[in-house]
Amino acid sequence: MAFDFQQGVLEKLRDDTLEQLRPEDGFSFSCRDECMGRCCCNITILLEPWDIEIMSRHLDMPGQRFFTEYCHLELNRAAGWPVVWLLHADQGHCAFMQPDGKCAIYLARSGNCRTFPLGRAVRYVREDGETRRDERVFMVERMQFCQGRRSGRNWTVREWLEDADVFTWYRMSDQYTELADYAMRELSSRDWMNDNVMRMIIPFLYAPDILRKRLGAAVEKVDHLEFHRRRMEAVRAIITDLAAGYGYGPRAGAGVTGTDGSFMERVGKILAHGK
Ligand code: SF4
Ligand code: SF4
Repeated sequence: MAFDFQQGVLEKLRDDTLEQLRPEDGFSFSCRDECMGRCCCNITILLEPWDIEIMSRHLDMPGQRFFTEYCHLELNRAAGWPVVWLLHADQGHCAFMQPDGKCAIYLARSGNCRTFPLGRAVRYVREDGETRRDERVFMVERMQFCQGRRSGRNWTVREWLEDADVFTWYRMSDQYTELADYAMRELSSRDWMNDNVMRMIIPFLYAPDILRKRLGAAVEKVDHLEFHRRRMEAVRAIITDLAAGYGYGPRAGAGVTGTDGSFMERVGKILAHGK
């Protein structure tokens, strides 16, 4: 269900039928008491690594524990990439919804939660050997019960996104979605990514605290944003190498180093030194 929604949006983006809002476009919206929290029930909230990092830090909880308690992980075989969503939200009400319908982790809510009713879709297009990012901000299809557009406050798209403080999420999301796109498009991950590979990359994507501990990489030495970038780079190196073992990607035929000492040393260097 999770991926279907995203696929639908990406298909519209590909077909050029997805509405494109400009920063100066206006709309009116305010959350209202009569439907407070209804948007947080029976809904698929896709989570990216930065979402989980922010939520778990906010709750002062190791990423791994947050992942076990609040997330559902699935290898989407059609895409060849692991997808993660908030466990409880798709089975009832979100674990973070309070009895009054408000969000208990409002400041740390996910990128998707914070921009609703606006959504953002990104795809990567190869043209003349270059990769171009096609990005659109759009109005999420109206949910019948949502009263937010009834005589709400007037906003421009820019004002709404600034108010949601979402631009760091967008930067981190771009690092992640570019990695996922690389895996699917250049490494043909749907042909070889299996549960074992997925389990190997999950700590790099979702458990930065474990990696920091292993490497002695304190936050004072490598800040959270830079460490996120390095983790995405590390996963890129790992899956490039693994894909080569299956005969895919830029290193296909060059021989695979697998998980031997020199390879793990290289991954460690990326995390510890950035390259
Ligand atoms: S994280 Fe907060 S805003 Fe998002 S679904 Fe849960 S309760 Fe709602
Ligand atoms: S107005 Fe819409 S987004 Fe806001 S609380 Fe109600 S249902 Fe949720």
